[in-house]
Amino acid sequence: MPELHQIGQASSERDIPVPHKNGSSRLVDAFGRELTYLRVSVTDRCNLRCSYCLPEGAEFRFGDRDFMTAGQIETLVGTLVDLGIRSVRLTGGEPLVRKDIIEIVGRLRALDGIQDLALSTNGTELSRLAVPLRDAGIDRVNVSIDTLDGERFHEITRTGDLEKVWQGVEAALAAGLDPVKLNSVLLADHRPRDIDRLVDLTLDRPLAVRFIEMMPTATNKHLQQEQFRSCDWVRERVESRFGALESADPPIRTGPAKSFRIPGARGTVGFITPLSHTFCHDCNRLRLTARGELRLCLFADRTYALRHLLTDRAALEAEIFRVLADKPAEHMLTEGNYGNLASFMEIGG
Ligand code: SAM
Repeated sequence: MPELHQIGQASSERDIPVPHKNGSSRLVDAFGRELTYLRVSVTDRCNLRCSYCLPEGAEFRFGDRDFMTAGQIETLVGTLVDLGIRSVRLTGGEPLVRKDIIEIVGRLRALDGIQDLALSTNGTELSRLAVPLRDAGIDRVNVSIDTLDGERFHEITRTGDLEKVWQGVEAALAAGLDPVKLNSVLLADHRPRDIDRLVDLTLDRPLAVRFIEMMPTATNKHLQQEQFRSCDWVRERVESRFGALESADPPIRTGPAKSFRIPGARGTVGFITPLSHTFCHDCNRLRLTARGELRLCLFADRTYALRHLLTDRAALEAEIFRVLADKPAEHMLTEGNYGNLASFMEIGG
């Protein structure tokens, strides 16, 4: 386990001003859902090889490196922000392997209308980049950290060094990024001890630890039966140790996680349950791939190219409004249909 140094006073309970139901987004789908949240993949390359994301022997072909430039990302995100997006998360692949990530953040921060600019990272480059990211305008980070057992972490990520990632978490807290959330994908071979160590971090640290049910994609579907574990298992485990969890959801929900607190704890424990308890009815999300395609649902069966329209604002807006009508009511995961998503590497969750 990494040494857990004393960390800052950041509060994982800050309410992030993301209008959801009561905003004024012009991006409204056929079911009346206002779309105010955009996840932007800036690359599909990653410096880790997590076993559930890119299983050994998986037939996953990386495309070319023809990713949107920083300027193209600014134009496309800027258009969506003008139409109603308020909250933007940069993701990947691993966003911090992009050499111009600080420039991308700076350009997005300068857009009028973004109230919340966040980043998802595997943390491997975070100790070096936490301060530059904050200075460029990142508000908060999510760090993927499936276990606090170094050997097991290395086994799951197939290259990762837990100590380095932990230094990144500490650097993020020290830089004042708030909140810092830790995401752990639940694997069937997670032992109670893996859960306990992550949960215990919340007792005296302002961290939001979230457990995510593993979702099937083309590359990992064979793992799903043997590897699936529900968040209910974690909740039961936590409640058997600490008693009933208290609800810690902010007044306006900002995402799919349901948040709880161990009585008296500083941080929170969250559950993201796309399979056991779905949350599509109030989905407020759109996603952009690194090559400038719009994905309306993580598990949709297609994406929509927008990049060729970047020089024609009217045509770009018209296309966005046109394709919005295709946003599905809900994903079909529970029926075994994961659309055309090959791996989360493509889109970042
Ligand atoms: N590299 C960044 C990171 O590690 O956060 C961003 C991209 S990564 C694909 C985003 C998140 O998706 C990570 O927390 C990862 O663990 C999670 N993830 C990957 N495959 C998944 C799956 N099949 N089901 C659920 N979560 C998954």
